[in-house]
Amino acid sequence: MIIIVPQIIARGFCAVTIYPFVILKNQESKNDVVLLNHEYIHLRQQKELFWAFFFLWYGIEYLIRLIYYRNRYLAYRNISFEREAYHHEFDLNYLQNRKLFGFLRFL
Ligand SMILES: [Zn+2]
Repeated sequence: MIIIVPQIIARGFCAVTIYPFVILKNQESKNDVVLLNHEYIHLRQQKELFWAFFFLWYGIEYLIRLIYYRNRYLAYRNISFEREAYHHEFDLNYLQNRKLFGFLRFL
């Protein structure tokens, strides 16, 4: 379910996905198929990890990557969930062919 709530989107970002919501910063983003595909990949990841485990894993992996990279943006971009979503965001058929726990290939 897509909703527009600009107040909760961090600076520099256009969207956040918290199952079952894809929360967008603005109305125009509703037409951005690549952005939506990226967020739909996160929806699938959250569903297969029963939501709470996704955020727990996301947070722990972010901290580990932050220690490694010593850079917040690089840490975020290298979280396995983000690597999978960024790698496949232009492939609009990706979710039809994606294997269960596809993010594990990006660890
Ligand atoms: Zn993402």
